[in-house]
Amino acid sequence: MTETLSLLEVYNILLNFQGPQHWWPGETQDEIIIGAILTQNVSWNNVVKALNNLHSAGIYTLKELDALSVEAIAPLIRSTLYYNQKALKLKTFTNFLRERYQFDLQQMFAEDLKTLRSEMLKLKGLGPETVDSILLYAGSKPVFVVDAYTIRLLTRLGFTDKKMNYSQWQEFITERIPQDVELYNDFHAQIVNLCKDICRNKPRCEICPLTLYCTYYQQNKENPVTSS
Ligand code: SF4
Repeated sequence: MTETLSLLEVYNILLNFQGPQHWWPGETQDEIIIGAILTQNVSWNNVVKALNNLHSAGIYTLKELDALSVEAIAPLIRSTLYYNQKALKLKTFTNFLRERYQFDLQQMFAEDLKTLRSEMLKLKGLGPETVDSILLYAGSKPVFVVDAYTIRLLTRLGFTDKKMNYSQWQEFITERIPQDVELYNDFHAQIVNLCKDICRNKPRCEICPLTLYCTYYQQNKENPVTSS
């Protein structure tokens, strides 16, 4: 029988098992924002290659990026797939930042959170996961980032089997844990780390710290899926 666990207990088990994750892997707020836009559908290694190319071209900030055309940005970020679309998304964001805040990120993040989030969600190509990553990791705002890994893990653990959209998942999580930027930051990072290496599509339950509490494991342990 599966033991029940709160979301906070899940976090604590992951923290003990994996250690603090110290996210986001960007040096500056500008780099975190560029990385959050580039990482859609690709691994972080591919983003690093693109950031290195941008640095080699002397591009470190959103203001410097804004001075380039979409056509000039695209080849520099080729490693991130859909690079033409991503170049356009970067320019959409830099345009927003220039017109509304004259490239002043502190001024942008000083906006009322709900208003800022809803304005950012209107930008073409920026979905809730990207916007929330920017708000949490670049702006230190209390916004929990939901992604496919989060949904996979919490569903497998048996928290719910209801089909929920992004906002419903976000609400489901945030009403069960304290509103704390550090916790939101590290919890998301813990989930991503576990799901990249252990709770993969074909999970490696044999090395997971959550087996005792996992509905998926308890239901499949007699016939485990072979991990590759
Ligand atoms: S026990 Fe297996 S399915 Fe459950 S969370 Fe761990 S890796 Fe995922």
